[in-house]
Amino acid sequence: MECINHPGKMAAGTCQVCGKGLCAECANRFSPTVCETCLLENNNSVARRLIFDVALTLIIFVGVSIWIAMSVETHKSHSVIPALFIAGGLWGWQLINRLPLPIFIVSLPVLGMMYIFKAVFALIIGIFAMPIMLFLRIRDILKINTLKKNILAGKV
Ligand SMILES: [Zn+2]
Ligand SMILES: [Zn+2]
Repeated sequence: MECINHPGKMAAGTCQVCGKGLCAECANRFSPTVCETCLLENNNSVARRLIFDVALTLIIFVGVSIWIAMSVETHKSHSVIPALFIAGGLWGWQLINRLPLPIFIVSLPVLGMMYIFKAVFALIIGIFAMPIMLFLRIRDILKINTLKKNILAGKV
């Protein structure tokens, strides 16, 4: 098998995604061993997911702000705080879902109470977690973009 980037050069390894041959130089370029096409494709789909998270948070925040401002007789700026809590609460809910919680068989009223506690807890931790989660996502999106530019420019 030959290297996909260097015809005539013997393959020393294979891309872990598409299985194409890579010469020693190409095989050591990225860790784990993948070809440039597969690395860029994978990073692009990761970036798309991160952009989706950030965009969804913004849409929910703006949407809820407008909805409260229009449906409640209040000063326009007063709709921003509850909208922040709701957008944050969704991040909080997601984070709580990642915790390994013990499963109990409970009655319906207890289950209802648990959901209310969970929602309140989600709102509280969400308001702190949201800026951190958004910051991490934006940082990763920029990182992926810089890496892509460097790869395409042949610097990596
Ligand atoms: Zn590949
Ligand atoms: Zn090569």
